[in-house]
Amino acid sequence: MPDNVLVVAEHRDGTLKKVTFEMLGEGTRIAARLGGVVEAALLGSGVGGLADVLAHYGAARVYLADDPSLEAYSSEGYTAVLARLIQKAEPAVVLLGATTQGKDLAPRVAARLGLGLASDCTAFEVTAEGRLMITRPVYAGRAIATVVEKTTPQMATVRPNVLVPLEPDTSRAAPVEKLAVESGDIRARVIDLIQESGRQQGLPSLAEAEIIVSGGRGLKGPENFRLLEELADVLGAAVGASRAAVDAGWIDHSHQVGQTGKTVTPSLYIACGISGAVQHLAGMKTARYIVAINKDPDAPIFSVADYGIVGDLFEVVPVLIEEFKKVLRGKGASKCQTSR
Ligand SMILES: Cc1cc2nc3c(=O)[nH]c(=O)nc-3n(C[C@H](O)[C@H](O)[C@H](O)COP(=O)(O)OP(=O)(O)OC[C@H]3O[C@@H](n4cnc5c(N)ncnc54)[C@H](O)[C@@H]3O)c2cc1C
Repeated sequence: MPDNVLVVAEHRDGTLKKVTFEMLGEGTRIAARLGGVVEAALLGSGVGGLADVLAHYGAARVYLADDPSLEAYSSEGYTAVLARLIQKAEPAVVLLGATTQGKDLAPRVAARLGLGLASDCTAFEVTAEGRLMITRPVYAGRAIATVVEKTTPQMATVRPNVLVPLEPDTSRAAPVEKLAVESGDIRARVIDLIQESGRQQGLPSLAEAEIIVSGGRGLKGPENFRLLEELADVLGAAVGASRAAVDAGWIDHSHQVGQTGKTVTPSLYIACGISGAVQHLAGMKTARYIVAINKDPDAPIFSVADYGIVGDLFEVVPVLIEEFKKVLRGKGASKCQTSR
C-alpha cells in the first residue's frame, strides 16, 4: 500500500490558501518518514493552472477534478470526488485545512469511508510503526491531546498558520492526473455567495492577512471597534480581537486571536488595549513585527512587542490613522505593503 500523504488544496478567487502550502510542507516531512511522497487533490472549476503552484510547494502529483459543477464548494460534490479519490489512491494520510470548508468536508468524507478524524491539529509526529501521533488542543484549549488513529488512511484537519511551508521551488513540476466528476453527485446548487455584512467588508480575512489590527478590553465597548476598522482600512489590514472583547459580545468570535481563537502569522500585528495573556500570545506571537499600544507600561504584551507605545489608545490610534494616511498618500499607495 502506498505510504503517501494526500493534501486537499483549498483556494479562493483563483489563489491557493496559505494553509495549503503549510499542509504540503508538513505532508512532505511526514511522507519522508513514511517512505512516500506528498500528493495534492485540487477540486474546482478552471483551477488547472494552480497545479504548477502546488508542485512548487512540494506536491509530487496533483489529482485534478476540474468541472463547472465544482465551481462553488458543495458538500455533496466535493465529498463524492474526494471519497472516490481516497479509495483509488490509497494514501496513508489525508490532510485538510481546519477552515470553514475543511471542517465541513473532512467529517463527511471520514463518515462515508468509515475513517477516524482528528480535527484542528497543530503538530504531527511519525511513530516507528508508521502511525501519526497527532497533537490537538481540546476542551477549549485547556488541555492538549495526543491522538493515534486506528483506521487507515489517517485523516486530520490542520489549524492554519501553525505549520511551516517549504520554500517554493519553481523548477519543481508534478504530473497532473484528471479525475472524473459525476454529475449525479450534486443535488444542491449554490446560487450566490453573499459577503458577511457589517464589519470587515472588503478587508482581508484574519487567517490570510499580512497586517492585523487587534483590539481588547481596553476598547471599552463595541462601538470603539470602528476606530480599529478605520486604521485597518488605511493599512489594508484585518481586524482581530482578544477573547475578552469577544466574550463581552463586542465582536464576533471569528475575529478572536489566541489559543481558542485563530492562530495568525502576519507581518505586522498591532495590539490595542490587549494585556498579553499567554492564551492571546499563543495565537499571535509568531507575527514578524508586533506593535503594542497599552496605557499600562507593565502590561505583559510589551515583553513580546518589537515596538511599544505606552499611552491611551483613544489618543494614539487617531494619530496613527492620520500619519499612515499621510505616509501612504506620499507614496502614492492607498494601502500599506509589507514583506516577510
Ligand atoms: C482556556 C482559556 C483559553 C483562552 N483563550 C483565549 C484566546 O484564544 N484569546 C484571548 O485573547 N484570550 C484567551 N483567553 C483569555 C485570556 O486569559 C485573557 O483573559 C484575555 O486575553 C484578556 O483580554 P484583554 O487583553 O483584552 O483584556 P485585559 O486582560 O483586561 O487587558 C486589557 C488591557 O487594556 C489596557 N487598556 C485599558 N484601557 C486602555 C486604553 N484606553 N488605552 C490603552 N490600553 C488600555 C489595560 O492596561 C490592559 O492591559 C483564554 C483563557 C482561558 C482560560
